[in-house]
Amino acid sequence: MAESVFQETKWIMNRYHIKANKSLGQNFLIDDNVIKEIVENSHIQKSDFIIEIGPGLGTLTKELLERAGKVICIELDEKMIAILKDRFKLYDNFEVIHQDILKVDLQTVIKQQKEAGQFTQVKIVANLPYYITTPIVMKLLEDKLELETITVMVQKEVAERLTAVPGERNTGAITYSVFYYAEATKIMEVEKQAFIPEPEVTSQVIQLKVRETPKVQIEDEKKMFYVIKNAFTQRRKTLLNALTNTHVFESKEQGLKILKEVGLKENIRPEELSLEQFAEITEKL
Ligand code: SAM
Repeated sequence: MAESVFQETKWIMNRYHIKANKSLGQNFLIDDNVIKEIVENSHIQKSDFIIEIGPGLGTLTKELLERAGKVICIELDEKMIAILKDRFKLYDNFEVIHQDILKVDLQTVIKQQKEAGQFTQVKIVANLPYYITTPIVMKLLEDKLELETITVMVQKEVAERLTAVPGERNTGAITYSVFYYAEATKIMEVEKQAFIPEPEVTSQVIQLKVRETPKVQIEDEKKMFYVIKNAFTQRRKTLLNALTNTHVFESKEQGLKILKEVGLKENIRPEELSLEQFAEITEKL
């Protein structure tokens, strides 16, 4: 670990009397190498508009500001807002929104920036607050924002789910959602020692490349995700039982008929299905 980011972070925390707020998921990055990897893998150019979620003390922000045309940070903690405004007052490409990321109308934020600047690509970069990783990732994807990439630090367990391929290991309902909207890759594993305070879990940086068109064509995507969600709430059960118990299938007979039509065996389990097969089942309901 390089001394510099660690010392800088300590200095800022002392100067502003900051104690990390656990309930806000505050684990500040202090590893130069991790910061470098996140920034390099985001391939930031002057024509990019970057949205950073949860900038905290501004460690990543500083690197983003040096490279991007514009950086808008969204931070919930008032104390961080004061630090960020102070720290980056000389940057004319910096802006901060004091709000809960889940409540921000990102569509409007992006539209305004695109109209005002010459930005061609919009990217998300963040060391996410872990207590709301899933809702944030789902918001970024479901809001159908004009995004190029989403490069985020998440806890390793969640990273496994988000980057899994449907039909293979480590899948959950969220795997199918992410796969529908994006192509996910792992960038690096990050040990607890890369943060202060140390989180309880190992982390991973992942990148989602947002697809231009979703992976499958489906009339009612909400209905498909409803089917997938119900299939996975009863994970140990067969797909037939899970979807019958949750009343997605009107009856076992209807379920059996649909499985046959789609060419699936009676005792298939939800995690064995491809996204296309879930789409086919949904179309037949
Ligand atoms: N980016 C900094 C870093 O890497 O050192 C801090 C990352 S820390 C893991 C997560 C940050 O998200 C904290 O600064 C926290 O205050 C902020 N945060 C927590 N909940 C938030 C929310 N709902 N909306 C926006 N920011 C939030």
